[in-house]
Amino acid sequence: MKIQFLGATTEVTGSKFLLTTQQGKKILLDCGMYQGKGLETDAMNRDLGFDPKDIDYLLLSHAHIDHSGLIPYIYKLGFRGVVVCTSATRDLCSIMLPDSGKIQEADTHQFNKKRAKEGLPPVEPLYNMQDAAAAMRCFVTIPLDLDFALTPDFTLRFIDSGHMLGSSAIYMTVKEHQETKTLCYTGDIGRFNKKILPNPLPFPQADYIITESTYGDRLHPTIENAKQELMLIVKDAICKRRGKLIIPSFAIGRTQELVYALQQLKNDNNLPDIEIFVDSPLAVSATEIFRLHFECFNEEMQDYLQTDKDPFDFDKLHYVRSIDDSKRLNSYHNPCIIISASGMMEAGRIKHHLANNIENKRNTILSVGYCSPTTLGAKIIRGDKRVSIFGVPYEVRATVCTLEAFSGHADYQEMIQYLSCQNPQKVKKLFIVHGEDQARNTYSKHLTNAGFHHCCIPFYKEEVVL
Ligand SMILES: [Zn+2]
Repeated sequence: MKIQFLGATTEVTGSKFLLTTQQGKKILLDCGMYQGKGLETDAMNRDLGFDPKDIDYLLLSHAHIDHSGLIPYIYKLGFRGVVVCTSATRDLCSIMLPDSGKIQEADTHQFNKKRAKEGLPPVEPLYNMQDAAAAMRCFVTIPLDLDFALTPDFTLRFIDSGHMLGSSAIYMTVKEHQETKTLCYTGDIGRFNKKILPNPLPFPQADYIITESTYGDRLHPTIENAKQELMLIVKDAICKRRGKLIIPSFAIGRTQELVYALQQLKNDNNLPDIEIFVDSPLAVSATEIFRLHFECFNEEMQDYLQTDKDPFDFDKLHYVRSIDDSKRLNSYHNPCIIISASGMMEAGRIKHHLANNIENKRNTILSVGYCSPTTLGAKIIRGDKRVSIFGVPYEVRATVCTLEAFSGHADYQEMIQYLSCQNPQKVKKLFIVHGEDQARNTYSKHLTNAGFHHCCIPFYKEEVVL
């Protein structure tokens, strides 16, 4: 068997790893989109490194676009294999992929307007909503923790990785001649002691591991303090500064965690009496899918549901779907909280809220997740005083703060805690992916200290025989 690293090598987006078995089966692990670099990412997304028609199976760790976003693209190019994932991942993809198709169309439309002015011919979007809807026909779902024989020689098991609803590590057992080899792809690894989802679960001993390293060089504040920190930020933004608290957030997962945390503050009488708006149609749809998949929640949340049937709804919380209602928020001048996507501030309605509010020093912008270095989010967080939104320069006068405790990704200590289910000496190779170079290099040192002596930092398109 061999593996080729076709994405997420020197960055955290574009996860795509191609396994070719000795029997010639081609099995893709994730098919994620590169995000955050405009034209450059578009070219990277079109350079797949394989012919989609050759792929037999696509094993999908979770629904985030940087892991699933190119499925409609490969479908458009002739992929007719089977996408295997958990049922929550499938349900989330059914809203996220068409939404991504809509974004591709809108972005390309804008881009083509510029090209037309320069006398250049139009380009096609990567895919549209229809391609995304059609690609959903390839999905089949299997439960967590079940050994599923994809072929007589290839068995897989999804094991909860606690990163988002439906997310899982993929544990594979491959028979080649007389030998059995085991391989675990961790996908993205969640934090421990979260409020809604369970901890990432251990996986059986593996010969080979492919693991993420987003925060391979970082430690997060503890989750226990997250509610307290959020309360202090809300009080400062709302009670002291009397402004708006704008929270750019991933529509799926982070937004629901924030809503739940705000509800907890409200239950404790620690939330000012203000309106809270969740302005993202995708977040609204995602919240409905969260309500469908209570089986994915941790014990604390299951218990909480005995007393409150809907943890994602409370008095003065408003989900905003229509564009008109979203625009109406521009003329709402009372202190309030607006949660809107995208988390990296690159796309979606959050850009309008930033454009409308970033120059007012009464307002606060709170980042709650990872932002790729080239994104608008990263520029705002690192303290740039002038940023460009929709091509227009804006002064950053609002207060900018971050709250890392809500991160969807484990830090390096938590990732090593997660890997403590392994006897490091039995791991023949541990591939570090899904991280920027510094994070991957630092994490490699931490892993070596933890006894993993065969760490490998694969480069883009590198092929390794297992
Ligand atoms: Zn993810």
